[in-house]
Amino acid sequence: MHIDSPNPPQPDERQEQAINQPYDRSDLYLYTLRKMAESNLETNLTNLTRLLNRRAFFYKSAEVMRENPDKKFAILVMDIANFKMLNEFCSHQAGDDILVYIADIYRDYWKQSLTVVSHFRADIFAMLTPFESKEDLIEIAMDIHNRIDAFKLPYKVLASVGICIASSPDMATSNMFDYASIAKQSIKGKFYAKYAFFDDKMYQNMLVEKQIENDIVNALESGQLQAYIQPKADMSTREIVGGEALVRWIHPKEGIISPGRFIPVLEKNGLIIDVDFCIWTQVFAWIQERLAAGKKVVPVSINISRMHAHDTAFTQRLIQLAEEYNVPTSLVVLELTESSFLTNTDGMFASMLELKKHGFMLSMDDFGTGYSTMTMLKNHPVDEVKIDKGFIDDIENENVQIILEHMIHMLKALKKKIIVEGVELPSQQDFLLDHGCHYAQGFLYHKPMPVPAFEALLDGE
Ligand code: C2E
Ligand code: CA
Ligand code: CA
Repeated sequence: MHIDSPNPPQPDERQEQAINQPYDRSDLYLYTLRKMAESNLETNLTNLTRLLNRRAFFYKSAEVMRENPDKKFAILVMDIANFKMLNEFCSHQAGDDILVYIADIYRDYWKQSLTVVSHFRADIFAMLTPFESKEDLIEIAMDIHNRIDAFKLPYKVLASVGICIASSPDMATSNMFDYASIAKQSIKGKFYAKYAFFDDKMYQNMLVEKQIENDIVNALESGQLQAYIQPKADMSTREIVGGEALVRWIHPKEGIISPGRFIPVLEKNGLIIDVDFCIWTQVFAWIQERLAAGKKVVPVSINISRMHAHDTAFTQRLIQLAEEYNVPTSLVVLELTESSFLTNTDGMFASMLELKKHGFMLSMDDFGTGYSTMTMLKNHPVDEVKIDKGFIDDIENENVQIILEHMIHMLKALKKKIIVEGVELPSQQDFLLDHGCHYAQGFLYHKPMPVPAFEALLDGE
C-alpha cells in the first residue's frame, strides 16, 4: 500500500502526478502498479478530513509496530463527549468544521516519525504513537484535549481520550483500538476526566462481559433464565397483594446470578429484549396455569427494559402474549423506569396508551430517582408508582421524611397506587403506615423466590 507518507498528496497533486505519467516508458507493469497504489491511497482516506480511514490505520499501524519491535507503542482513541448535541444545537456545518479542525491537529502529529493517525468515523479519531514513558502519552492526550478546547464555539467541545499500550509488537492493532475505546468509554460523562488508560480491571470486566455475551444465548435456549417472584405485601395485614417477576440466571457452574451482573451487558448488546420476552412468557404461562387450576392469582409485575423504547414492537408482543395464554391483562403490571419514557418520547407515549387501552396496568419504577419525575407524572398515564428504595434507606433523615410525606400526599391526590420498595425494618414500615402507605415490597416481608415457593405462599402452605 502506498500510504506511508506523513503528508499524503492532496487530490489535485495526485491528479497531476497521474497526468504526468511517463507514457513513453515501456514498463507498463510498473505504471499499472503505481496507478493501483494511487487509487488505493484514495480509498484509504476519509472524505471530509483526508486522514487514514479505519482499515488503512490498522494496516499501517501494524506495519510500523512490526518494523520497530524495539520501540514501545500505544494507540490513543479520541471522541467528543457531546458531539451529537453539538451537531443538533450548532448545525451540521459546525460539526464538520470542528472535525476538520481536529484533523489538522492530528495532521501535525502525523509529521512525527512512526506516528499514524486516522479519522475512523463521526467524531472518532485514533493515533498510533511511539513513546518512552506514560507521561509522553498523557502529554499528547492533554495537548489534543486543550487544542480542541480552544476551538471557538458557543458550545463547549469536550474531548476524551482512551489509551492502550501495546503489550507486544505483534499485538493486533484492532484489539488495541478496542481496548483504548473501552478506556475512553470509562470516562464518558465524567467531564473532569480527560484521558484514561486501559488497565487490568477493565480487561477483567471485558472478559466477564464477553463471557456473558457468549453464554446468554445458550442460557436462554436451555432454560437457565428463570423468573423469581418477590411478593408485594399489605404492610398492616402482611397479605400478599401481588408480585414482581425478577430474572435470575441459574448458571450451571456459577450458581444463581443476579440481574445486576448481567443486565447492563445485555442492555449494551440488545439481548435484554430476548431475556425480557423469556421472563414475560414465563409469567403469562404461570398465570394461565394458576387460572386453569382454579387457584388464587394476584397481579404480577414484569419489568420492561428501557431498550424496548427504541422499538415499539414490544407493545404487540405483550398483547399477543395475553391472547396466546388467555390471561386477563388486568393481572399483568408493566414496570417501566423514567428513562424508558424519556427515550423515543412520542413512540413510548403512544405505546403506553395502546397498552392501557388493552387493560394492562402501568407502573413507574424507581420513582424519585430521575431528572424529570414530575413531568413524567404529569404526562404519562401510570396507575402505580413505586417509591425508590433510596428514600427508605435514608428514612431517618429529616429532609427525607419531609420529601416522603409530600410525595405520598401528592401521589394520593393524583390517585396513584403507591408501592414502597426496599422496606427492611419495622421502623420504616411504621413511618410509612403512619403516613398512609399500605403496600410494600421488601425483605421485611419476603425476598424474591422461585415460583413454586411463591405458589406455596399463595396457597397458604
Ligand atoms: P427493580 O425493578 O427496582 O427491582 C427491585 C430490586 O430490589 C430487586 O433486585 C429486589 O431483589 C431488590 N429488593 C427488593 N426489596 C429489597 C430490600 O428490602 N432490600 C434490598 N437490599 N433489596 C431489595 P434484583 O432482583 O437484583 O433486580 C435488580 C434490577 O434488575 C431490578 O430492579 C430491575 O431493574 C432489573 N431486573 C430484574 N429482573 C428484570 C427483568 O426480567 N427484566 C428487566 N428488564 N430488568 C430486570
Ligand atoms: Ca421493577
Ligand atoms: Ca425499583
